[in-house]
Amino acid sequence: MRLKIVAGNWKMNLDFEEAEDLISAIADELENIDLGHAEVVICPPFPYLEMALDIAIESDFSVGAQNISHFDNGAYTGEVSARMLASMDVDYCIVGHSERRKYFNETDEIIAKKIDQAIEHEFITIFCCGELLSERQAGKHFDVVREQIEKAVFPLSEKEFYNIVIAYEPVWAIGTGVNATPEQAQEMHAYIRNLIASRYGKDVADETSILYGGSCNSKNAPEIFAQPDVDGGLIGGASLNADEFIEIVKAIL
Ligand code: PEP
Repeated sequence: MRLKIVAGNWKMNLDFEEAEDLISAIADELENIDLGHAEVVICPPFPYLEMALDIAIESDFSVGAQNISHFDNGAYTGEVSARMLASMDVDYCIVGHSERRKYFNETDEIIAKKIDQAIEHEFITIFCCGELLSERQAGKHFDVVREQIEKAVFPLSEKEFYNIVIAYEPVWAIGTGVNATPEQAQEMHAYIRNLIASRYGKDVADETSILYGGSCNSKNAPEIFAQPDVDGGLIGGASLNADEFIEIVKAIL
């Protein structure tokens, strides 16, 4: 049975005290929830990872990094390596987010190197893919997503691929308040699962968690998560409010 996941991507938000309050509130609320075969992941900014990990020890969530360097080690000022994060016991990392592609010029090639680093250090990697509005309007959304996955993920062996979670995040839905419809999400998730089946086989595809991301909130999550190929969500803005985030978590149970 594949894992259901709700992951919160806090991006570059909150000061330390606000972050600590939010994560403590989420931890408190999780105490009253039986997650069963589901996982909650919190991805705070780098400086708050240790605090999040400390709270996670007593709670029922995992901690993820929002980014990792594509370099292994050395004179790369400002970078944070997979090796460093692994040594802190961070379990998850996000790679290929559209904001990294757009603002930091991350290409499919750089993203592939980041995935290699993540795999080498045994992270569960949430790989983000998704099309621009113009690409969807031109009817190219399936091709764009296929190319992103083929270039960055499909070089992995079957064994390595087991540590990949896919997040389909149409760029036009991220932070815009305009979510994909449940039908649009299901259509793309089924397409992605078929792609995975054609590369790694049906059993692997059936075990792969495919998350939806893009203006997901407590109102639209139940219908989106009810789709057969949607296994949870990568949540940006709505993960910054504990009550809202917890309602989204409940929608995968
Ligand atoms: C994201 O950044 O991964 C995301 C899905 O953001 P939002 O939920 O704010 O659209």
